[in-house]
Amino acid sequence: MSMDMLEIQKIWSSTIEEIKSEIPTSSYEPWVLPLLPHSYEKGKFSVLTGQSFAIQILKKYTPLIEKTLSQKLNEPAEFSIIYDEKLAQKHNKKLQKLLAREENIEKNTKNTEGKYDNLKKMQSAPKLNLKYKFENFVVGDNNKFAYAASLAVAKTPGEKYNPLFIYGGAGLGKTHLMQAIGHYVLYNHPELKVKFVKTEEFVNDLISSIHKGMDKSANMSNFRQKYRNIDVLLIDDIQFIEGKERTVTEIFNTFEALHNSGKQIVITSDREPKYIQNLPDRLRSRFEWGLMADVQPPDLETRMAILCNLAKNDGISLPLEVTEFLAKIYSKNVRELEGAYNRVTAYVGVCNIDLNIESVKQILNISDTEKQITMDDILNTVADYYKLNVKDIKGQTRSQKLANARQVAIYICREITDFSLGEIGNFFARKHPTIIYSCEKIQEDMQTNSALKNCVNEIIEKIKNN
Ligand code: ADP
Ligand code: MG
Repeated sequence: MSMDMLEIQKIWSSTIEEIKSEIPTSSYEPWVLPLLPHSYEKGKFSVLTGQSFAIQILKKYTPLIEKTLSQKLNEPAEFSIIYDEKLAQKHNKKLQKLLAREENIEKNTKNTEGKYDNLKKMQSAPKLNLKYKFENFVVGDNNKFAYAASLAVAKTPGEKYNPLFIYGGAGLGKTHLMQAIGHYVLYNHPELKVKFVKTEEFVNDLISSIHKGMDKSANMSNFRQKYRNIDVLLIDDIQFIEGKERTVTEIFNTFEALHNSGKQIVITSDREPKYIQNLPDRLRSRFEWGLMADVQPPDLETRMAILCNLAKNDGISLPLEVTEFLAKIYSKNVRELEGAYNRVTAYVGVCNIDLNIESVKQILNISDTEKQITMDDILNTVADYYKLNVKDIKGQTRSQKLANARQVAIYICREITDFSLGEIGNFFARKHPTIIYSCEKIQEDMQTNSALKNCVNEIIEKIKNN
């Protein structure tokens, strides 16, 4: 069977999509996603990597990949990963550019004020990602409050908003903002100690301190020393303390110790403190002491700006139509938007094909048959589901049942289409604040009401399969 490149790409895209749930994200994102399909000849499916290490790491997934590929190809296929110089150079260039930028900053500041001269400290000690700085963060209506709050905290740690609690959905820039604070502080106040810790890491660290060796009190005192001898503590994804009593106590004690001595604490979470289950009041109220800032999904323009920013940093020219196309598809999660951008640009860079909507569709395996969902589709399905009349849902009646169906329909429009709040408002003959209120209400209710969550998901399934 001979295939053209785009067909091969399509098979590969659908294969990795399928195996995604079976490979941990920590392997999938850095190692599987960047692989580029290369050829399919004589039953051998080959992909390229620019990171020789990927071949080792992915060995254990070969059977899974082969099985899935064979299903897609309708014949048994052998899978192999080939190390590619060109890709490796590209990968290295990206890294070098990043490092060069850092070195430049280092040089400049050394010459002027002698600040930030400890590049090593900033790179390795606090485990911050070099990309996650304020200058790489695109500000839009969705995140400007959280951005401003983060910047204020970075400028005067421990003084203004303490703690700063940043919350919002996955992939919306919480970790990015939090680490940006870390970079900023290290850059401007090299004498301050910054620690970034994921909540899971804190939990593991605590557990191993409790169980390790004979001298438990020495272990615990080491542990406490480590988290309290700090000026700025960044705790990522605090929702993971749910149900972990010992951790809750330890976080509480750490919080008290730091806060009492005027040290800055920054916390991120995928939800507000009040929705974190089994969180004792004393800790919840402390999380709410300082400033709470949420991040929302970016609007279309902000998503386009994020893509332009990525392209600019990579020195790639991304046609406007492609920018818009990608931004329209990946509307709820910047991490996914970036992932799509990375796949498209990596592929185009190596395979010398034109970058346009057609090629992007092929690379990302987006089929033409995916029809545009209209607000009418949504309203009809909701009406059907609740056995109500479309007219009544759109009408002015305030009965509980109708109001709930209306809010669900509005929420789903916001969730799965790209219509603006204004357009949704026009369709439902409701004002802007009502639309926002409906979306927030359903979103909030779903966090505690799993029956509602199931209904909404079921309706969305129905709409998509119609
Ligand atoms: P979260 O912690 O909210 O799940 P992250 O901070 O990890 O999300 O962000 C996911 C990815 O999206 C990161 O690569 C981040 O750099 C990028 N990102 C998110 N929001 C923005 C933004 N406003 N501007 C630029 N990049 C962003
Ligand atoms: Mg995060």
